[in-house]
Amino acid sequence: MYKRILVAYDGSDHAKKAVEHAVSLAKVLNSSLYVITVAVDPSQEALEKAKRIAAEAAEKIASSGLAVSDVAVRSGVPANEILNYAEEIRADLIVMGSRGLSTIQRLVLGSVSQAVASRARVPVLIVK
Ligand code: ATP
Ligand code: MG
Repeated sequence: MYKRILVAYDGSDHAKKAVEHAVSLAKVLNSSLYVITVAVDPSQEALEKAKRIAAEAAEKIASSGLAVSDVAVRSGVPANEILNYAEEIRADLIVMGSRGLSTIQRLVLGSVSQAVASRARVPVLIVK
């Protein structure tokens, strides 16, 4: 179980924590780790920024001594892209933060973690 773990990473503090949890699980369970960062729009600038954010997660994972199986940078609706990619790589666990980069504090869960948690066909670990 949890042999193919996908971490959704937006560069936020919660997402950083999500990477740490994914790494710990992957070490214990000998899992493959995948990363996705979704750019907010398809502009070159947004894609470049997303690429840098994704690379940051990949570096964190690599510095923990684990190999990253794949790093995906996509543009579109974040929850849709995360769910599509999870299906593509046949992830059996998705790890993400409870909140992200938004400064709006009204919700316990951000909209992306809420959408992924409710629509995913595999377990979702939401890191607080
Ligand atoms: P909202 O975006 O709904 O205003 P928020 O930014 O606080 O609120 P979310 O965006 O739902 O909360 O972020 C929760 C988690 O979802 C993040 O910690 C991260 O794991 C993942 N996530 C959010 N946006 C992206 C993204 N663009 N690419 C990859 N993962 C993301
Ligand atoms: Mg967000």
